[in-house]
Amino acid sequence: MIVLKFGGSSVADAACMRQVAGLVAAALPKAPLVVLSAMGKTTNGLFAAAKTAEGGDLAGAMERQRALMAAHRLAASDLFGGAVPESLDVALTDLFGELELLLRGVALLRELSPRSMDAIASLGERLSTRIFAAFVGGAWVDARTVLRTDEVFGEAVPQPEAIRALAAEHMRPLLGPGRAVVTQGYIGATADGLTTTLGRGGSDYSAALFGAALAAEEVQIWTDVEGVLTCDPRIVPEALPIPDLSFAEAAELAAFGAKVLHPATIQPAVEARIPVTVRHTQKPEGRFTTISAEVRTGRPITALASRGPVTVLTVSSTRMLAQSGFLARLFEVFGRRGVSVDLVATAEVSVSLTVEADEPLKALLEDLAAFATVEIHEHRAIIAAVGERLKSTPGLGAKLLTALGDINVEMISMGANEINLSLVVKEECTAEALRRLHRVLVGAP
Ligand code: ADP
Ligand code: ASP
Ligand code: MG
Repeated sequence: MIVLKFGGSSVADAACMRQVAGLVAAALPKAPLVVLSAMGKTTNGLFAAAKTAEGGDLAGAMERQRALMAAHRLAASDLFGGAVPESLDVALTDLFGELELLLRGVALLRELSPRSMDAIASLGERLSTRIFAAFVGGAWVDARTVLRTDEVFGEAVPQPEAIRALAAEHMRPLLGPGRAVVTQGYIGATADGLTTTLGRGGSDYSAALFGAALAAEEVQIWTDVEGVLTCDPRIVPEALPIPDLSFAEAAELAAFGAKVLHPATIQPAVEARIPVTVRHTQKPEGRFTTISAEVRTGRPITALASRGPVTVLTVSSTRMLAQSGFLARLFEVFGRRGVSVDLVATAEVSVSLTVEADEPLKALLEDLAAFATVEIHEHRAIIAAVGERLKSTPGLGAKLLTALGDINVEMISMGANEINLSLVVKEECTAEALRRLHRVLVGAP
C-alpha cells in the first residue's frame, strides 16, 4: 500500500479536491491510504474562533463558526452539483453542532485549555475528510481510533507500538487495490479517547506514522511546491527543486525551518526505511523530491533553511567555566526547567545557547543566577546550511562568511552529524542573509 498526504492548500476548495480525487483515482491500484489536512486555512480559522470565544466574544466566535460552515457547505455543494448526499449533510451538521457547543463552552468559561483547543482544532481535518471521502466514495476512518498519543495536548507524542496494533485492526482490513481509505492528518487520541493534535503542520507526521505502521511502499507528501527546494521560495524566489535528499539532510532541513515538512516526519520513515516523496498537487507530472535511505547526495551544501525568532543566552562564570562540572550544572538547570536548547557554542569563559523565543525563562534565569551571569539577546534567527559534504569541503566556511558581507554573524555551530552548519544573525537580516548565501553557495552552477 502507499500513503498519499494532501496539505491544506491541496484541498482548499472544490476545484482542488477534484484535482486530488484524480490523483487518488490514479493511485487506486496501489491500495492508497489518503491522509488529508484541513481545507485551506481552516485550522487558523478554528484557532481564531477559539481565541475569540476565550475573550468572551461569543457573537464573534459564532460568526467565525458560520463562515467556516459556509465555506465547507459551498465546497460540498459544488462537488456534488448541489445534491449533497443526506449522510454527508447530516455529518456536516453534527460536526458544526459540535464546534458550536465547544465554542459556547469556551466563551462561558472564558478559558481555553490546550485540551479544549485540540478538540476544536480537530474539526478541520474531520470536516475535510468527510467531504472528500463522500466525494470519492472511499472508506472514512477516524484517525483517533488509530493514532494513539500521550496527553500533551497541542503537541502530543505518538506511540508507535500502539499505532501499529490499532492500524492493523482498524485500517488494514479496509485497504486494498481499487479502494481509497481516507483519514485525517494532525489529530490523534489518548488511550482514554481524548482528542489530541501533533502540533501545527502535523499532518506530514501523521502520514509518516501511518506509513510506518502499515509498512507502506512509499509516503507521498502532496503540496504546493515541486518538492523540497534549495530554500524557502517565499524568501528566495530562484530556489530550485532538489531531486533527492538523504534522510539526514531532510531531517535537518525540517528541524531548522523548512516548512514543507513537519520536523518529526522523517523519523518514522527512517525507522521503517520507507521512501518519502514530496510532490506538487497541481503539477503531478512535474519535478519532485525523493527522500530515502539509499540517497547519497554528496553535495557540499544542498539547501538552506531558517528559523526564528530565537533568543541567545550567553552564560558566563569566571569562577567555574574551566572547572569540570560547569556544563553539567548548566544543562541540569535547562533540563529541570524544561527549556530545550538548539545550538551551543562554548568559549573559555562563556557558553552561548539558543532557545525558542517563546520559552518561559524566568525560573531558568533565577536558577542560573546562583552560579553565573547571563546576557540575553532576543530577536535572533538561526540560518542552517545543510549538505552531506559540508564538513569535508575546504574553504566553505570562508565562502559562507564572505557571502554574508556586512551581515554580522553572532554565533556559529557545526551540527554533531557534520551535515549542518548553523549561524545566528539578527532576525531582521534573515531574508537578506538567505538570499546572499543562496546566490553564492547554492544557486551557483
Ligand atoms: P501543506 O499545506 O501542503 O502542508 P505547507 O504550507 O505546510 O504546505 O508547506 C509548503 C510550503 O513550505 C511551500 O509553499 C513553501 O512556501 C514553504 N517552504 C519553506 N521552505 C521550503 C523548502 N525548502 N522547500 C519547499 N518549500 C518550502
Ligand atoms: N491543519 C493542520 C495545520 O494547519 C495540520 C496540517 O495542515 O498539517 O496546522
Ligand atoms: Mg504543512
